[in-house]
Parts: sequence; C-alpha cells; structure tokens
Amino acid sequence: MYKKNAWENYSDQDREKLNAFIEDYKKFLDRGKTERECVKAAIEEAEAKGFRNLEDVVKNHETLKAGDRVYSACMKKSFMAFVVGEEPLEKGMNILGSHIDSPRIDVKQNPLYEEDDLAYLDTHYYGGIKKYQWVARPLALHGVIVKKDGSVVELALGEKPEDPVFYITDLLIHLAQEQMKKTAAEAVEGEALNLVIGSIPAAAEGEEEEVKEKVKQGVLNLLKQEYGIEEEDFLSAELEIVPAGKTRDVGFDRSLLMGYGMDDRVCSYPSLRAVIDHEGTPARTLCVILTDKEEIGSVGATGMESNFFENTVVELAYACGVTEDRLIRRAMSNSWMLSSDVSSGYDPNYSSVFEKKNASMLGHGICFLKFTGRGGKSGSNDANAEYIACVRRIMDDNNVDFQMAELSKVDVGGGGTIAYMCARYCMNVMDAGIPVLSMHAPYELVSKADVYEGYKAYCAFLKDAGV
Ligand code: MN
Ligand code: MN
Repeated sequence: MYKKNAWENYSDQDREKLNAFIEDYKKFLDRGKTERECVKAAIEEAEAKGFRNLEDVVKNHETLKAGDRVYSACMKKSFMAFVVGEEPLEKGMNILGSHIDSPRIDVKQNPLYEEDDLAYLDTHYYGGIKKYQWVARPLALHGVIVKKDGSVVELALGEKPEDPVFYITDLLIHLAQEQMKKTAAEAVEGEALNLVIGSIPAAAEGEEEEVKEKVKQGVLNLLKQEYGIEEEDFLSAELEIVPAGKTRDVGFDRSLLMGYGMDDRVCSYPSLRAVIDHEGTPARTLCVILTDKEEIGSVGATGMESNFFENTVVELAYACGVTEDRLIRRAMSNSWMLSSDVSSGYDPNYSSVFEKKNASMLGHGICFLKFTGRGGKSGSNDANAEYIACVRRIMDDNNVDFQMAELSKVDVGGGGTIAYMCARYCMNVMDAGIPVLSMHAPYELVSKADVYEGYKAYCAFLKDAGV
C-alpha cells in the first residue's frame, strides 16, 4: 500500500511477527558493529541455513544445481550469498544489495601517545560525521590487530557491562566562550578526536633507567600482558571506535529503535534474511550483496566498485556449468536489483530541508527512490519507469507498505548509493531503503514498522521479480 501508516493495519499476528523479526535484528546490530563483525555474523547465519562456501564448491569441482545455497566473502569485509534458481542463469537474478560499513572513528597507524599523564589513541574519522556528536560519550573499541606472524587478535571492548569503555573529552561549558562562537563543523576538529585509554604510570622496573612516558608504558604493559601485542603491532591493525552499548527500543509504545550503524545495516540485515530464509527452489537465482566502503565512495577491494561482484558471479556461473561469456553477461543484464541504502526520513524538527509530499515518513514502510544524487540528480542511477511499475505491482500484490521519496528539497543536499555501479551491467536497479532520522549520528532512529515492511518487501521482490 502506498503512503499509509503501516501500524494502522497490523493484526495481532502481524505485530507478533514484527516483534520476532525486530528482536533478531537488534541482536545482529549489537554483534555487528564493524563490517568484519557483520560478515562473520552473516556467514554464521547463512551456514546455519544450509549455505556453503562457494570457494569449497570451486575447489572440489562440484556442480551446483537448482536449490543449492552458497556464499562468498571478500577479505572478511564484504559478502554475497546465492540460492540457485530453476531457470537458466542467463535469464537473470533477483539481487538485493546494501552496505555494512558505517561512519565511525578509526585508530591511526601510529596512534599511541602520552600527554600530561593521560594516555591516548590518535584517530582519523571514517565517513561523514558531525564530529561534535562523538565526544563525551561511552565508546567501544572493535577490530583486529594482525601480528607479523599472521596471528590475529580480535577486539570488541566496551560492550559487556563489566568492560571498560573509552572516551573523547569535550571542553567544559564554563571555559568554552570561544568554542561556542565557532561553526558546528569547527567546534570539534578532526585532529582533536583523541581517545583516552589510561592514566596509571607503569611501575619502575629497575632503578637505573627512568622510563620517560610512564602512563603510555603502563598501557603497553597491559596490552602485552592481555593480548600479546607490542606498540608496532598497531601498524597492521584495523581498530574502529564505535558507540558503546546496545540497540534500544524508543518511546512509551516501543515503536521505534535507536542504535548504531542503522546506515546501512537496517537494510543489510532484512536483505540477508530475505535470501537465507528463502525455502525451497526459487524460479530465478537469488542473490544478496553486503558491501563495504560505501561511506567513503565504494572504493577498494571490498567496495562495490571492485570486481568482487563480477568475479563471484563468474565463479557461480562456472559452478552451474555456464561458461560462455555472453551467457554470464546476460545473467547480469537480465537481473533485477533493489539497491538498498537508508533514506533520509522526514524529521518534523527540521522540516525546512524536506519537500513533504516527496519525503519518506517514519512508519509508512520501505522507501523507493527513482533517483538519488545531488544538484540536478547528478551521480544518480535513475530507475526506469517500466521497472518501477513492476516493483509497485509486486509490493501491492504482496501487501507491502511502501512510499516513494527524494532525499530532500531540490538543491538542499543529497547523497550517492551503490545503485549506479550495479546498473552499469545494464540490469534494472532501483534505490530502496528504510527511512532513518539522525543519519550518521552515533545513534540513529528508525521505525520498527519500516524495518519489518523492508523485510516483507525484500521477500516479495525475491519471489516475484522478473517472473
Ligand atoms: Mn551513509
Ligand atoms: Mn548508506
């Protein structure tokens, strides 16, 4: 249904299903605070539902048949899964794509220092953040430290109630006269995002040699003791500073959810589930892509611009016995895709940036966007009207609440998605997504109804697209 408040039409049974799905989503969000953690969780969920690593299929020269379920991961940071369909692959796939990286603060490669009896990690933020939102709040440290011998130390510190958290200070209001005159962009500078990690000086070991930076040494001693890591090991680490704490229900009626990384895991998880929950053999081959690096331009080996998607489809095709180049190209050009990324939900507190009749409302279901981009639709995939008509029909046939929107008023701002990168294979692609408030803030807000309608929309699309 178009532009209705989804909550008004739910039966008790609908609400029960919604709540069950939301509880699963909350768990995913709480264990997947980095792209690596999301891929790990995706692999576990997929394997539990009978998916096998495509790499093993290839290695063993196995042939895939309709109904087979496989997945593939790239550098532990991006992920794809397929359910092989009855129809020949050249007829095309039904694809759901979204990203699993989120804005955050990364630890620098030479991060550790001491200043006036406090030990810090120096940082460099990732993606678009309002820096002032990240100070004076509990922060957790997630990621990996890879030692020269190849062994990997995994960290997720700051999430358990007994864990310590980390902290970036802000200037006290009493002394902030000058700071308060600055613009919001300048009030907290990127280079000032320094993470407090300790303050106890190391005990002197021998009497002869005086350690210069005792607090830093104290932290290093702990790191050595707890994790076996040396200062130089930070050189080959990927440590991400994210908000500490769990996803929470919001409101007396618990209709909303607040959590870190909704952009874009609020689309990734329902997309993943729609594919791995699929029972039996689909007509067309189903595919889900969870990609990395979207927040910094989809670049790199694990971003959507890389050949991971194409290479994996080629491997799948060969495993299905399809080796002719043009048939594999047809498989891609005949595919239908929903490229999902969060939509800028209409915020009554900041109504002036939206054009209300073309804005996505919380609780009105999944949002489709014919185009994204900025300044005259620049940089956007502009979905075909014929394709949009098919998607509308699928949503109505399957009783899914949806809306159609733009990101903002014309020329106010904008954003890009992975849609155009997939569309270059000449496949039908449309942007879709769940409306989010406070996008890119440490905690973002969504409606539970929209998450659930998103899941329903993806299931309907997988079932009926291209048929
Ligand atoms: Mn984003
Ligand atoms: Mn996004």
